[in-house]
Amino acid sequence: MPESVVVTVLGPIAPEQLGVTDAHDHLFLRTPALPGQEFDDASRAIEEVGDAKRGGLQAIVEVTPIGLGRRPAGMRAVSEATGVHVVAATGYHRDAHYPQNHWVREAPVELLAQRMLTDLQDGMHPDDWLTEESLDPARAGVIKAGASYQHISRLEERRLVASAMGHRETGAAILVHTEIGTCAHQIIDLLTREGVRPQRIILAHLDRNPDLELHSEVAARGVTLEYDTPGRIKYRPDSQLIDLIEAMAAAGHIGRMLLGLDLGLRDYFRAYGGGPGLSYLMDAFVPRVRKRIGEEAAQAILVVNAARAFALSR
Ligand SMILES: [Zn+2]
Repeated sequence: MPESVVVTVLGPIAPEQLGVTDAHDHLFLRTPALPGQEFDDASRAIEEVGDAKRGGLQAIVEVTPIGLGRRPAGMRAVSEATGVHVVAATGYHRDAHYPQNHWVREAPVELLAQRMLTDLQDGMHPDDWLTEESLDPARAGVIKAGASYQHISRLEERRLVASAMGHRETGAAILVHTEIGTCAHQIIDLLTREGVRPQRIILAHLDRNPDLELHSEVAARGVTLEYDTPGRIKYRPDSQLIDLIEAMAAAGHIGRMLLGLDLGLRDYFRAYGGGPGLSYLMDAFVPRVRKRIGEEAAQAILVVNAARAFALSR
């Protein structure tokens, strides 16, 4: 059996080459759900990623999906300029990000899956819309999906089914946006029904609902939990998230956690005059995690889990 790989925008690498990984972030994003908060400047992205690299970051999973201003050439430029690995996403977000009559809402499941397979196998469209433009050489390495607050809409279900089709064909992990950490079990039920092993499912933003019992149940099903709101003091203090990580580690779930920052607004970037900036994970948050759970456990989350989660595997 051939060695598995992680597909970055500059080509496939061995999983052990990935290194310290921010498992959920954005370098380019534009969505009608967040007017005035778009960011698409490659030189500012290079500045942010350079700052994060100085803190020890080696890889970023850029989970901007189809239709939200994803920029394959920009991601390649960032990776080339900084030496930081960038894993790009295909797939689709939750309903709120697609205006009425957007093709993503109307496309049948086969077309939704076909677009993902093109991104994963041949290269990404330089533009998110249904155009005949030539493909960028960069391929996607992960599948993004999304669900609404406390429910999975009919269209979100269709896109989750398409994600499972893309996964079954390629082995790319499925990373699902949960709205305020809700619907975890329903998302897992749906994807496993469609033939996805729990080990290939990553649930994002579960830390918005820091419920240790729920998280332990999700981890026990074999699913990876992604905590991605460090520095979002408007939600809760970082200390509470560190408490959660420590409790999950104590419950035996160190192997089921990933960390990211999920900077999805222009205002979150230093390079745009805001904060906390992409360097926050390694400069401010991870040192506190290391102090609490130890160096080895922190490396497991940042390096070992990320390599396993993002390596292609069915
Ligand atoms: Zn995000």
